[in-house]
Amino acid sequence: MTEGTKMTTETRAPKILDGKATAQQIRSEVAEGCARLREQHGITPGLTVVLVGEDPASQIYVRNKEKMARKAGMESRIERLPETTSQDELLQVVGRLNDDPAVHGILVQLPLPAGIDEHRIIEALDPRKDVDGFHPDNSGRLLTGLPGFVPCTPAGIVELLKRNDITLSGRRAVIIGRSNIVGKPMAVLLLRENCTVTVCHSRTVDLPQVAATGDILIAAVGRMGMVTGEFVKAGAAVVDVGIHRVEDEETCRRLFGDDEARLAAVREKGGTLVGDVNPLEVRDKAGWLTPVPGGVGPLTIAMLLKNTLDAAERSVA
Ligand code: NAD
Repeated sequence: MTEGTKMTTETRAPKILDGKATAQQIRSEVAEGCARLREQHGITPGLTVVLVGEDPASQIYVRNKEKMARKAGMESRIERLPETTSQDELLQVVGRLNDDPAVHGILVQLPLPAGIDEHRIIEALDPRKDVDGFHPDNSGRLLTGLPGFVPCTPAGIVELLKRNDITLSGRRAVIIGRSNIVGKPMAVLLLRENCTVTVCHSRTVDLPQVAATGDILIAAVGRMGMVTGEFVKAGAAVVDVGIHRVEDEETCRRLFGDDEARLAAVREKGGTLVGDVNPLEVRDKAGWLTPVPGGVGPLTIAMLLKNTLDAAERSVA
């Protein structure tokens, strides 16, 4: 452990990395930025979210994004397209939004219906409006350290760690997961913060032992409660990216013990959310832990708003 770190080697309940509070802070900074841009340049940042089909989870995410963007003082629209939309029709919509000067940020909600090539759509976005940071132009910029848009989830995680004074420089960071959306950009961002980075994935041998070398452990694996105590170095900061719904009491007890609020949610509301980390198993090991819900999720939206404000600011620069 280096000096100045707030991590601890004692075994006790981890400190909570409160994503909701950090996201609130970022959203109010964005709201101030929107007001400033309006005052100085008469511009209101515009975000358009394109939703194809009826996926229930996507409907909720998209509504949330729209609501939060409006609250920050942005012009926010959802472009709803039917499940039967063809790739060519979607490309036309993207083209129209690329050409619309009132639209500063475009987000195409994933996943797209079968038959539409996600890569083809993302590549069609104007990189200057790609506020999700998924366009290859922006991925390349991230990799080479040029200014561009950074994917919202990993960008939010860096904000969360820094704003909670978790020392990054010189520390070992382990990421479980290598997706284009989370794992890979996370690795580049932590490298940029001078961490020594290890990326694990489904073929990693001795995964728990490798994970347990991390002072910072990012779980972005997409498997409910997979990260148990043996994955965690004592005192590590554990960031849980996963989102899963627990609907039965037995699984709920395995993850949360006798936590009455969680059990009541399963019994009365039909479920509760959990991530890729088993909170019960890691509670004696982790120094810091993000809760689910209220950890990484709110930060993803906050960083989307931040990227949209940046896009609008760059349009007048
Ligand atoms: P993904 O499925 O694209 O990638 C998962 C990665 O985990 C893959 O790279 C794979 O190699 C690795 N993996 C799978 N099984 C493994 C195993 N048994 N051992 C080790 N590695 C394994 O998922 P994603 O898009 O990166 O998302 C990960 C999780 O985070 C999902 O639960 C997703 O819903 C959630 N997510 C949350 C937010 C948020 O805002 N909170 C944002 C994005 C994703």
